[in-house]
Amino acid sequence: MPYKVAVLPGDGIGPEVIHEAVKVVRATGANLTFEEALFGGAAIDGAGEPLPASTLALCQSSHAVLMGAVGGPKWDNITPPEHRPEIGGLLRLRKELGLFANVRPAKTLTPLIHASPLTEGRSMIDRVVMRELTGGIYFGQPRGRRDDGNTAFETSVYTRHEIERIARQAFDIAMARRRNLVSVDKANVLETSRLWREVVNEIAADYPQVSMSHMLVDNCAMQLVRDPSQFDVILTENMFGDILSDEASMITGSLGLLPSASLGESKGESVFGLYEPVHGSAPDIAGQGRANPLAAILSAAMMFQYSFGDGATAARIESAVESALNDGLRTADIFESGTRLVSTSEMGDAVAERLASA
Ligand code: NAD
Repeated sequence: MPYKVAVLPGDGIGPEVIHEAVKVVRATGANLTFEEALFGGAAIDGAGEPLPASTLALCQSSHAVLMGAVGGPKWDNITPPEHRPEIGGLLRLRKELGLFANVRPAKTLTPLIHASPLTEGRSMIDRVVMRELTGGIYFGQPRGRRDDGNTAFETSVYTRHEIERIARQAFDIAMARRRNLVSVDKANVLETSRLWREVVNEIAADYPQVSMSHMLVDNCAMQLVRDPSQFDVILTENMFGDILSDEASMITGSLGLLPSASLGESKGESVFGLYEPVHGSAPDIAGQGRANPLAAILSAAMMFQYSFGDGATAARIESAVESALNDGLRTADIFESGTRLVSTSEMGDAVAERLASA
């Protein structure tokens, strides 16, 4: 049976980069079906809400979701905020689909090794940050204001179950990589971190082949800059992951190159996931053919790896991307003298051609 992929192009450059990602996925020759649906601002315009029931139903009946990006100035002032593309669309979709693990790889692409803003980053880096996505201080209750609005508070909550399921997924990913996992917390101060550490230690006992250590989040922020090559898989809670994954990913280069996955429960070999570039809808360059489609294309590679258990096709896509870059092709965001400036669709064509001929 072919895998079914729900395609949500979204807004701004979303449709441009997703078009190229689908082009590349087709060029792999994989047995997949695609079905497209309105999402985000485009769905507000076309169907009156950012996540129409038909779009949600399509995602729920698919094996994976490939998404562009949502949002833009046209919808920024919609009230209440829960009706905007980012909150009523993307955050709600992640919640409805039970996506609790955010995976952000940061891998040096050899032709762009000098693009790292840090000298220390200009070595080969291949690392993944696993961020818990639905718990912790961003979601805990109660939260609010008291004392006439002069005191604000949030509550950080983690349950054993929430920690167990993300830890298992992180160890599974580490098993398929270099078998090294660093669990990041603030156990010297926070009770949630002490529970986190306790549960991660218990899960680690099931993965004796993985070398696991704990690191405090402040130290991790420093180590990522000092020696980013020391990490393989970083496992951490929601807020720490939010910050560390941005830090960790920028060490390798441009926003237009960074893929991501949000994963749900594993079902045997396959995991349901939503795959999207880290970047947003970039309204400043939308419609100009200037968007870099590589983050979306590399997100599609992650879909093969995690949802279809097909690391070989993922690796083929990554090699085709590297080959296009090796041949000097660059979109505007990564252009430099001596390279050849190409449009969004020319970059997609170049990757698809290299895949087909590989
Ligand atoms: P952005 O990521 O859209 O853009 C930041 C800068 O990076 C811009 O200068 C843009 O031109 C550039 N850029 C981004 N992606 C690029 C690509 N593929 N190729 C070349 N250049 C690229 O962030 P922003 O400007 O803060 O947000 C714009 C809109 O996107 C907002 O409405 C925001 O809410 C939304 N957003 C959505 C998501 C998502 O859907 N997951 C994520 C972030 C932001």
